[in-house]
Amino acid sequence: MSKETKQFQTESKQLLHLMIHSIYTNKEIFLRELISNASDAIDKYHLLSLTDDSLEKTNEYEIHLEVDKKKRKITISDNGIGMTHDELIGNIGTIAKSGTLEFLKNMKGKEMKESDLIGQFGVGFYSAFMVSKKVEIITKSAFSDTAYKWTSVGEDEFTIEETNREERGTQITLTIRKNEDEENYDEFLETYKIRSLVKKYSDYVKYPITMEREKSIPKLDADGNEIEGEYDTMIENETLNEMVPIWKKNKSEITDEELHEFYKTAYYDYNDPMFHIWTDVEGLLTYKSIIFVPSKAPQNLYSEKYEKGLQLYAKGVFVMDKCKELVPDYLRFIKGLVVSPDLNLNISREMLQHNRQLMKIQKNLEKKIVNELEKTLKNDREKYETFWKEFGVNIKYGIYDNFGTNKELLQDLVIFETVNEDKLITLKEYVEKMPKEQKEIYYGSAHTKAALKATPQMDLIKSKGYDVLVLSDEIDEFMISILGEYDKKPFKSINKGNLDIADESEKELVKDLETKNVDLLTKIKEVLKDEVEEVKLSTRLKESPVCLVSGDDLSFEMEKVISQLPGDQEVKAKKILEINPQHELFQAIETIYRDHPEEIEDYASILYNQALLIEGLEIKDPVAFSNKMVKILIKAAQVGETNGTDSKND
Ligand code: ADP
Repeated sequence: MSKETKQFQTESKQLLHLMIHSIYTNKEIFLRELISNASDAIDKYHLLSLTDDSLEKTNEYEIHLEVDKKKRKITISDNGIGMTHDELIGNIGTIAKSGTLEFLKNMKGKEMKESDLIGQFGVGFYSAFMVSKKVEIITKSAFSDTAYKWTSVGEDEFTIEETNREERGTQITLTIRKNEDEENYDEFLETYKIRSLVKKYSDYVKYPITMEREKSIPKLDADGNEIEGEYDTMIENETLNEMVPIWKKNKSEITDEELHEFYKTAYYDYNDPMFHIWTDVEGLLTYKSIIFVPSKAPQNLYSEKYEKGLQLYAKGVFVMDKCKELVPDYLRFIKGLVVSPDLNLNISREMLQHNRQLMKIQKNLEKKIVNELEKTLKNDREKYETFWKEFGVNIKYGIYDNFGTNKELLQDLVIFETVNEDKLITLKEYVEKMPKEQKEIYYGSAHTKAALKATPQMDLIKSKGYDVLVLSDEIDEFMISILGEYDKKPFKSINKGNLDIADESEKELVKDLETKNVDLLTKIKEVLKDEVEEVKLSTRLKESPVCLVSGDDLSFEMEKVISQLPGDQEVKAKKILEINPQHELFQAIETIYRDHPEEIEDYASILYNQALLIEGLEIKDPVAFSNKMVKILIKAAQVGETNGTDSKND
């Protein structure tokens, strides 16, 4: 086969371009990425060799590094599965992960954040181009007799040709760039640097990562005695990595930094974890666990494809990668591992679900995590808020899920934006600040605090100075309804039912007005009979003319959320129109009703539609609404004109 020249896929070109011109400062991770690919390739070979008799069974695996300072070359070789001609083209020249493509499209024209790319997708092989001006791959698949050489300088194209290589596996040679862009990559050609990078990023890779090292040994005479002052140089193949898994060590031997590096390598995260919890339990059930809370939620956390779970080792042997029985649904974002000598290795998938020991470990871990979160909330508010921003919605879901069985455990972890406070506060803090006469915890739903503050329902509350929890997540009201009360104080929506906070005198006054205007109210109700269940004069409004509130059960917000759910649940919140009797508009309507009762229909309908608009709800017939408004505006103008004429004539 002669040499072929091929173009990179468009997206690959973009990715390469980003890599080559990357502002990414952490260029040293290229080595970790290539070693991790090599380790994966050995994994693949090993697994296949167990079942495929055509493959030699062996335990002699190795990832070998070579540095040639003069030629500015670093070589990474493995005896893994290797690649065929088509795999070389398919795996290296194209981007398989659909997420990466999406991401690149979205990134166009935006500033690249270094964590984004490598953090989310581990672009792996391409990172070699951050430090190399040329990359060469020589590879021979375990299933092929021919070896191939792939070469690229990372611009638009690569070449492939046949080459000679005896053993299966892959050898990647990087030619390190020199002083380009004022950056100096010379240090990557120092063996001490390579050694330290392996230690830092790849210490727990399970295959030996080796590199040759020159060693001076004393020369021996014919009798085998050392000759003083004379040395031979010997070349030794030194293993650089520890290979012992982190959990086999003692907690006290390990620094936070080491743990963080382990986390990043094992769970493919660019960022350090927000915190970790290391547990050693000895007793009836003995286990060790290391749990990490990521500092950023993975992009696919809420997609169906996301798999929660912890790695499970029993009797020191790896059992599975994602044991979901160890993680309650709402903590799906945690990463880590559990090692227990007490677990039976032969448990089947189905039996895992009912495994008492696993359930017990799950419960213990859950408590530990909640404990740690409580501590953070108490001692490091800023950190907790960062956590909340990423994962708060999960905690809320945890309260709501399972019919609220976890509410006691989790309710003190929730922090709320409120109308009066500048910072997020807990329910405990809210209750502590409640004035004596306030009996209920008020909340209101709106997309933002400003929007809630502007709603008519806030009128009276505002004048009383009561604080109101701002609920802006879809899950919020569902969570509140499961909570029911906190510290024996019931929750009370400012957008629902009766808000019984007006002074007695005020209530009396409104009652009187209601009696006085009973005809008018009955008439309005009749006009709106298909729309609202009740029309009443309000005690909660101060400046606003009308508002719409829901009945005590289902709120408008919940109605919206439920109607968006798949399935055909048809739920409707009860609508109550409240009219402000102190408002000029109501007084105007009283006059209209007295002088032109036939016009009351238009007014009633306009009032109602206004209330819908304020509530952010849809108007059924916007054209009819607009026509009625126009009619009234024209009439108002005509009345103005007549008045004007009258006054001139006076
Ligand atoms: P990822 O490793 O995340 O899949 P990479 O871009 O690093 O992405 O690698 C792309 C693919 O190329 C790998 O999935 C693998 O199939 C192949 N590959 C990379 N390095 C090696 C290697 N050393 N041996 C065999 N195959 C490899």
